[in-house]
Amino acid sequence: MLVGMRRTGVLVLGGTGEARRLAAALVAEPGLHVVSSLAGRVREPLLPPGEVRIGGFGGPQALAAWLRERGTAAVVDATHPFAARMSAHAVAACTAGRVPLLVLRRPGWPPQPEWIVVDSLDEAAALLPGLGERVFLTTGRGGLAAFAGSDRWFLVRSIDPPEPPVPRRMHVLLGRGPFTVDDERALLRAHAIDVLVTKDSGGPDAKLVAARAEGVRVVVQRRPPVPDGVAVVDSVPRALTWLRDTVAQCAPST
Ligand code: NAP
Repeated sequence: MLVGMRRTGVLVLGGTGEARRLAAALVAEPGLHVVSSLAGRVREPLLPPGEVRIGGFGGPQALAAWLRERGTAAVVDATHPFAARMSAHAVAACTAGRVPLLVLRRPGWPPQPEWIVVDSLDEAAALLPGLGERVFLTTGRGGLAAFAGSDRWFLVRSIDPPEPPVPRRMHVLLGRGPFTVDDERALLRAHAIDVLVTKDSGGPDAKLVAARAEGVRVVVQRRPPVPDGVAVVDSVPRALTWLRDTVAQCAPST
């Protein structure tokens, strides 16, 4: 039990499996109120247990006001590693409101010597002419605009249908992982893929294992850095430990 946490709340900034697992652990804590927050990008999101709010807060000042109104004792930023704007807003709001903030980030994939690592999807798009003709894109719907001007053929996998701007020549596969290595290999073969472009999201890596097995070139977008000076953990148990150590100190002494 998180002793001393009565009358305190924890905001989990979500959109990841880690956020859902953390919320599931926190709702089981007596006297603790957890609110999970989702951006609202996915039409039918996988919902965590407990209270869920959906949609942007309206910027860092509005988030700071929300934290104050809800008597929030701590924020866990468990957003996707590439949700850099939300992470920056969490830092600004928590600094302004003196609310303890933890970043929960799953580890990135260990870089492989054969990968081409880029800092942006624009850079990935510019490299494609030298790499191949048929490209498997698993960058999420928001990443497609970078490839709108490309003359390559793209296989695009996303949870919801993409909206313009999108590549001129593409086939869309709607799906939500995790996927198996065998299925990923079959997919690469069926579409004669010669390049995979993805983000260093971490987590299940079946597509990367499949790409290596099929001799497919791999382009990986590097993660944005975690904001300076923020506590960071890489697992749900470590986030729970941080909450025990940090948030209990914020609880009113009764
Ligand atoms: P982003 O660019 O960092 O954030 C853009 C804006 O969306 C934020 O300023 C905020 O609006 C709102 N927002 C983002 N996450 C939110 C959350 N958890 N709760 C409430 N508002 C949120 O984010 P993004 O890259 O578009 O990602 C959106 C969501 O999808 C994130 O929650 C992330 O965990 C999830 N996701 C992202 C990716 C990816 O590749 N980027 C992949 C899988 C899942 P306000 O300024 O109005 O508060």
